Formats: sequence, structure tokens, C-alpha cells
Amino acid sequence: MSLEIRDVKTICTAPEGINLVVVKVLTNEPGLYGLGCATFAHRHLPVVSAVEDYLKPYLIGRNPQDIEDIWQSCMGMSYWRNGPVLNNALSGVDMALWDIKGKLAEMPLYQLFGGKCRDAVPCYAHAEGRDIQETIEQVGMLKEQGYRNVRAQVAGYGGNMSEPMGIKSSFSGSFYEPKQYMRSVVKLFEELRSTYGEELQICHDVHERLTPIDAINFAKEMQKFNLLFLEDPLSPEQSGWFSHLRNHVTVPIAMGELFNNPAEWTELIVNRMIDYIRIHISQIGGITPALKVARLCESFGVRTAWHGPPDMTPIGHAVNAHIDISIPNFGIQEWHAGNNNVFSSEKETNLLQEMFPGMPVVKDGNICLTESPGIGLDFDEELARKYPCSKEIVTWDWMLPRLPDGTAVRP
Ligand code: MG
Repeated sequence: MSLEIRDVKTICTAPEGINLVVVKVLTNEPGLYGLGCATFAHRHLPVVSAVEDYLKPYLIGRNPQDIEDIWQSCMGMSYWRNGPVLNNALSGVDMALWDIKGKLAEMPLYQLFGGKCRDAVPCYAHAEGRDIQETIEQVGMLKEQGYRNVRAQVAGYGGNMSEPMGIKSSFSGSFYEPKQYMRSVVKLFEELRSTYGEELQICHDVHERLTPIDAINFAKEMQKFNLLFLEDPLSPEQSGWFSHLRNHVTVPIAMGELFNNPAEWTELIVNRMIDYIRIHISQIGGITPALKVARLCESFGVRTAWHGPPDMTPIGHAVNAHIDISIPNFGIQEWHAGNNNVFSSEKETNLLQEMFPGMPVVKDGNICLTESPGIGLDFDEELARKYPCSKEIVTWDWMLPRLPDGTAVRP
């Protein structure tokens, strides 16, 4: 009897108060199943529907080994495509199929991608204090934990103003003043370099909070700090400004966590406008397209720095690491999955590790993968159901940024 997909399940869980979506693909071979990450924390319900109501009926009866054909078919079958909901739904399935293939081969996923290119996966963690001093202290804590690469923000993305224009605004959101933000970050990085010297690799995320010309001037100011990279200096909608940025500054640029469509990254890569691709792998449809992006980048001297935020399951973090360890043009990996660092308590870390047994851990600033077949971790569904998702926690304050006069800015 040939191998067949028998069932496709979605399980939503929020062990750290963040909505996560796991896809489980079951086969007709007893005990053989795959797990994938389909997390779109802010719109998890439409992802569940896309998997259960639209992909599942097509997938049942298909051979789970035909990953490329299943990916191509699912990408095209809705005609309109490349949006975050459908891409995440497809990613959950795609990762689960790769997980099944690894289990069939009895090999960890990275072996299927060509084997190890390096011993470990160096990563960076995020430090963010309420003011410069607190941020400096957080960076020090991460350094003590062994991180050699740290991203630093002060008072949230874009900084925060408690009293915009001195009046009470009629709008809700996270207010910031772009010039004040730029000055505070320059000051922070001066202090970081004078406190920790030149050896620590430091980077900063603009989070598309600036106008294009402010972003160019800010990048010029930040150049003196010898950054690992400056992240998302421009929004995807303003990609046309990258050639101007490139002509004026040589600070390494990382871009792309908001990308969904190949049209958004192809030109930037082949025209060598960026140094690191920051794609969020589930947002582009999973492992199958991510491997192609990595190979495209290799040809043009662009390295990877896959997005690795808290709104991603440990399955997604493990997938990042499997690709990282197996490609020559790996740059750095963002790490945010509970590791007793400044953002996750010991209780949360233990809960994640209990819910996703076998999840990768960080030691001395490196992600350590296990040798288990496939993606290499399991999922305790019963425990996950004790931490249900909520529609109440979908919008975070930092996602409603506003200028001092109340004007909404995209996050
Ligand atoms: Mg970012």
C-alpha cells in the first residue's frame, strides 16, 4: 500500500500569551506524522480555516512525499496567492511534509538539504530597556549568557513619547517622534561601544519607522558603529529607495520580514541592494520556497538572517536552524524562543520545552540542533489545549505607531 495523507489538523495554543498555530499531517502509516508552523499570531483564525476548509480536502489521499508538486498545486489552487494567510497555511503543511520525509529517511532535516556547512548556528538575541541604561544592562546580561551578537532598541520600536505634543491625543497607539528616536539610538550605540568595546556584534531594527530620507541620513550616522546590520530601514512599499540608500552608505542592510511575494525580494537580491535576507519562512509558504530564496541569495552574495521572533513556534525556529546549518551563505539567526533570556522567564521556557519536546536550545550564543529525524521535535497536543488562543491578544500597542500629531504609521 502506498503512503497517503489521512488527516490534517490545526492546533492553536498560546503558552506565552502569543497565538501559535501548529499543523499536523497524519499518514496511513501508524505513528508517521509531520509537524509544521503556520503561525500568523495576529490573524490565526483565517489560517485555521485555510488549512482545514481548503487545503485538507485536497491533501487527503495524496502521497506526502510529493512535496514540490503539493506546494505548487496548493499555491496555485486559490488563483489569488502570496498573501500572509494562505502562505502561512501552506507553510504549516509544507514543513509537516518535510518533517515526514526526514522521518522516512531517518535523518535530521539538514541532511536532506545537503548536510552540515558549519558546526553550530550562531544567533543574536534582542535587548530592549525602558531607557539607555536599562538597555545597556540587558545587553550585558545577554553577553554573560554567551551571546556574541545582540540587537538593541531603546523604549520600543521608534522609542516612545508619553505626552505627544503635550496634549492628550484622541487616538490610541504608541507615539514616537522620529528625530528624538534617531538621536536616542545614536546615543545608545555610543554607550554600547564605549561599555562593551568593538568585539560585540550589534545591530538595530528601524522597523520602517522613518521616512526614506530620514532612514538614509540615520544609516549614515549609524555607520560609525560598525554594525552587524541595520534592519528594515525602509518599508516594503518604499523598496525603490534602496538604490539611493546604497549610493550613500555602506552599512550592511537586512531586509524582508514582511515579504510575502517573490516579486518583493527578487529585484533587491539580484541588484545587490541588501546584505541579509530577513524573510519569515512561514510567511512565504515554508521550507520549499525558503531553500530557493537561499540559493538565489548565494549567487548574488546575499546572506540569510531569517526572522525568528516570539510569534513563531519552536517548530519554525528549528526549521530556521536546519536551513542555517546547511547553506554556505548563512549570515546570522535571530533567536527568541524561550531560553531563560531577558524576555522569557524560566517558567515560560520550561513550558515551551514541555510542550515541544526536543526543541532546539541555545548554548553560548549558538543554536544546538538534535540529531532526531525530520525537524526533530514533538508536540504535546493535550498540554497545548490547556493554553488556548485568544482574539483579545492579537493587537499589540507597538503595532499602532503614531507620529506626535496622531498620524498613524505602519509598524
Ligand atoms: Mg525586524
